[in-house]
Amino acid sequence: MAYPVLPTSEACCGCGACSQVCRWDCISMERDKEGFLYPKVHTEVCKECGLCMRVCPSLKKETAKPHNGTPLHAFAAINPDECVRRESSSGGVFTLLAEQMAEKGGVVFGAAFDKDWNVVHTRTDSKEGLRAFRGSKYVQSETGQTFREAKELLEAGREVLFVGTPCQIMGLRGFLGKPYEGLLAVDFICHGVPSPAVWQWYLKRQARHYAKEHWTAWLRYWLRPLSLIRRVEFRNKEKGWKQYHFVLRVSQARQDMVYHKNPYMRAFLKDVDLRPSCHHCFAKGGSSGSDITLADFWNVHRVVDGFDDDGGTSLVLVNTERGARVFDALECRKQEVVFQDAIQYNRAWAASYPANPDRCTFFEEYRNCFDSFIT
Ligand SMILES: Cc1cc2nc3c(=O)[nH]c(=O)nc-3n(C[C@H](O)[C@H](O)[C@H](O)COP(=O)(O)OP(=O)(O)OC[C@H]3O[C@@H](n4cnc5c(N)ncnc54)[C@H](O)[C@@H]3O)c2cc1C
Repeated sequence: MAYPVLPTSEACCGCGACSQVCRWDCISMERDKEGFLYPKVHTEVCKECGLCMRVCPSLKKETAKPHNGTPLHAFAAINPDECVRRESSSGGVFTLLAEQMAEKGGVVFGAAFDKDWNVVHTRTDSKEGLRAFRGSKYVQSETGQTFREAKELLEAGREVLFVGTPCQIMGLRGFLGKPYEGLLAVDFICHGVPSPAVWQWYLKRQARHYAKEHWTAWLRYWLRPLSLIRRVEFRNKEKGWKQYHFVLRVSQARQDMVYHKNPYMRAFLKDVDLRPSCHHCFAKGGSSGSDITLADFWNVHRVVDGFDDDGGTSLVLVNTERGARVFDALECRKQEVVFQDAIQYNRAWAASYPANPDRCTFFEEYRNCFDSFIT
């Protein structure tokens, strides 16, 4: 054996499976200059066992079982709890799945903000704990040690719902190495994940603007800039699901901007700050191995009647028999639809978006002239 050769930065999705699988903790996840995490192998302690290469979803993709590309079923679905649906990005199906898991005594893993507004994967086994997971956070999340934790729970016979990007689900499955009866793996159709460094910089900039205008906030800003950030909503639906707003509360001030006018959201949707591997994602088209895939059911009115009240509708793709059993048991408004009709309005299921031609310049310059890149 030789020292591991992990994927290039163009191919690595940063799921962290390699680092978490190493029994000797020889691989740490470290940030590059764009702010994305990549594995670093500490060769002085590496035992050259090769396990990290065996679980890597990027290296495994060549040998992955080809997927026929079609889920078993596709549904339009809406969570009947209006409060939950309002806090969710689409139709709130994630919370239905997670509540069902918590009621059965299982554990739910999802992405939440930490105290410094980083997006991190964490876990809960209570219904109250699910609120932190609700809503999309358009930043790449850190998986930390959650694959290890999920495996321990599964080995102990607990049921686990793990929600993540398609590449994170592929990484988790590689890490686990075998199917577990107790695992429900759920991903979503993914446009790509923006840089955590750009996110942190954007928030600090908003905090600085506030502190400049409110001298009483200067000391707090100086001590800990992000303590001024009180609330973040990437998908506020007060003015409707289709024209969702990015809402930020900085201390006493509430910023509220329709998504396509907000600079952070524009950078994301213009593909200027996505992880390099997102531009040629290997986990597209249903190949992640998830049981269920969630998405926004854009243009639902063209596919099925009675589901377009602008409160948010989920597209639910049921990929496995286990997914079908779980989704069947959910009490919600749902109607089966023709997969091809539904998916034609959601390009990101199968296709990766090319990088914006200004991507390199953006990462060199965004601290000086963020807004000029995204007009
Ligand atoms: C980065 C990103 C890109 C997306 N791109 C598309 C797209 O192109 N087309 C589309 O139809 N849908 C996309 N989605 C999915 C969509 O926004 C909804 O998350 C999904 O439809 C589920 O909505 P919901 O109403 O059922 O539940 P919600 O409550 O909105 O679901 C939130 C779930 O997503 C998880 N989550 C949130 N942020 C992250 C994150 N950064 N990393 C990993 N998991 C996260 C939470 O843990 C929770 O389980 C994207 C989501 C993200 C996070």
